[in-house]
Amino acid sequence: MLPARRCADCGTLSLDPARSCPSCGTAGGSDVSLSGCGRLISWTVIRVAPARYAAEAPYAVGLLELAEGPRLTARLEGDPERFSAGQALVLASIDPERGPIFRAGR
Ligand SMILES: [Zn+2]
Repeated sequence: MLPARRCADCGTLSLDPARSCPSCGTAGGSDVSLSGCGRLISWTVIRVAPARYAAEAPYAVGLLELAEGPRLTARLEGDPERFSAGQALVLASIDPERGPIFRAGR
């Protein structure tokens, strides 16, 4: 389950509950849980990482579209050579530093 917020005014889902609505700017809303299922749109492999993640390189970061509609960029688990555009992804974990991490789903 991926925490999100649904705007009280326009109903837009956002993945950063600390911020106002990305669509209309309203601060209010209700907490919701998203399925954590989505599809991979694009990705890149980070080979030269920021210093604090250097030991983890190479790793993949992808642009995903969640089943509920919102898009986000997130870490991807698994062999970067085996990703393909449009493939199903599922939420693997939520890391306090790295945010949501996704892996191949089915
Ligand atoms: Zn809104």
